[in-house]
Amino acid sequence: MAAHRLILATRNAHKVGELRAILGAASLEVELIGADAYPEIPDVAETGVTFAENALLKAHALAQATGLPAVADDSGLCVDVLGGSPGIFSARWAGKHGDDKANLDLLLAQLSDIATPHRAAHFACAAALALPDGTERVVEGQLRGTLRFDPVGTNGFGYDPILQPDGYEVTCAELSPTEKNAISHRGEAFRALVPVVRELLA
Ligand code: IMP
Repeated sequence: MAAHRLILATRNAHKVGELRAILGAASLEVELIGADAYPEIPDVAETGVTFAENALLKAHALAQATGLPAVADDSGLCVDVLGGSPGIFSARWAGKHGDDKANLDLLLAQLSDIATPHRAAHFACAAALALPDGTERVVEGQLRGTLRFDPVGTNGFGYDPILQPDGYEVTCAELSPTEKNAISHRGEAFRALVPVVRELLA
């Protein structure tokens, strides 16, 4: 029986599975539950201006609402030549929240005249842990790469078909979920959370 319960602020089963696997691999005595277990709790407005602020906002809101330690993540794509945009606006870059194809098409159009040496970008993720007493920690992860001119690959989501990670000849959308988790911004942030969970909970 796990010693502590920890809630993850997402209704995305893949994220729950990924964090559960990482916590399990670290032999932490923690039972991870998804926010789906509390359908009555409304989503939090992401009013922060950084990934870390938004992750903390979501983690605190969930910890207060449930009385459980809560983890939240916030992520996006940051393009060097755009000064870090779309950044926190990644999910709604073309206007409608979550329209992955429109977001990706708009970004490619904006960058159409930019040559490969100047197409550096990275996925960024902040993962926050908040306790009901207000204690908070936040850690970050990155996946650096170069943007392609056309989408390639069918795995993953969002901007995966156009980011080719440094050291790879394929896009993130051509990697298997296991291959991507091993190098991804979210994987790195979740792994950095392990010692934090150990310190505050275990
Ligand atoms: P969220 O933090 O999971 O809500 O992600 C915000 C947005 O950033 C998504 O809608 C995607 O557009 C983009 N994004 C974040 N992580 C990834 C990734 O791993 N692959 C592709 N797009 C991502």
